[in-house]
Amino acid sequence: MTFTEPHLITHGCLNCGRHFALHQVRQVHPAEHTPEGEAEVLVCPVCGSYDPVPLSEVPNAS
Ligand SMILES: [Zn+2]
Repeated sequence: MTFTEPHLITHGCLNCGRHFALHQVRQVHPAEHTPEGEAEVLVCPVCGSYDPVPLSEVPNAS
């Protein structure tokens, strides 16, 4: 596993204000009640907030 591949920062956390790539905030949980059998949620890896949003929706994103 390498860390040389650049990842596009696409999401920001409204709670702690940090920015992340999608793979950092994306989590897939089993969800037996859905047709797909899983549910995707976005969780901030720093503060645990469920408020990561696309950077286009984050005020003052640079
Ligand atoms: Zn956060």
